[in-house]
Amino acid sequence: MKIAFISDIHSNLEALETVLADLTTEGVDRVVCLGDIVGYGPDPNDCVARVEETCAATVLGNHDQAALGELSTEYFNEYARLATEWTSRSLSPPSRQFLSSLPYSMEFEGLRLTHASPLGPENWTYVLTLEEAKRQFGGYDERLCFIGHSHLPIVLEEEGDTCEAIRYPADETLELLPDRRYIVNVGSVGQPRDRDPRSAYVWYDTAMDVLRLRRLDYAVDTVQRKIIDAGLPAFLASRLAQGM
Ligand code: ZN
Repeated sequence: MKIAFISDIHSNLEALETVLADLTTEGVDRVVCLGDIVGYGPDPNDCVARVEETCAATVLGNHDQAALGELSTEYFNEYARLATEWTSRSLSPPSRQFLSSLPYSMEFEGLRLTHASPLGPENWTYVLTLEEAKRQFGGYDERLCFIGHSHLPIVLEEEGDTCEAIRYPADETLELLPDRRYIVNVGSVGQPRDRDPRSAYVWYDTAMDVLRLRRLDYAVDTVQRKIIDAGLPAFLASRLAQGM
């Protein structure tokens, strides 16, 4: 079975539709969402509805929680805070209801799913160092854990007491080793930050034990126009073209 992992959509409907169309091309059987469906972008309700109808499982992101008014935005930068306020005002009752129902972390087909980190997922910790990764491997039981949050695709491998970061080129198959555990950051559908503006997602083939990172061009200019028209900060439009 091929399972796709999408994360950090951030109300970017054009990117989301491009990714969903690619799932068919790639022969993906099931898709799950790792959170941050909303925040930053102009189409929160359409994105929530599409995730609700297409995803077999979804976990909560910090921007989803902030948009529900359940997480303080004091640690958000100015753009994130303004976008959260806009999103809070824009969310429909059905969107609120769906986001309110999401867990921080869950097991799916023997895999661990969480937005930020498996250990204390409600703390929204970034897994950006090998030291932090090592700590996180101690925080869950499954062999594979899929995360988002940093918008930076990376594979972290645990072998005994050590941990290493693996190169993760787009569209090359990455074979996993049976005696290792992995934390896989799947990157961001709607706001990539690795200086590659293309939308990112990952699929995992459970039978072959292989992963693939997909990168896809989408209509960035359409989303930029919608961001400006919605009265959201212009920086949120310009950053999409730079992938940062
Ligand atoms: Zn995010």
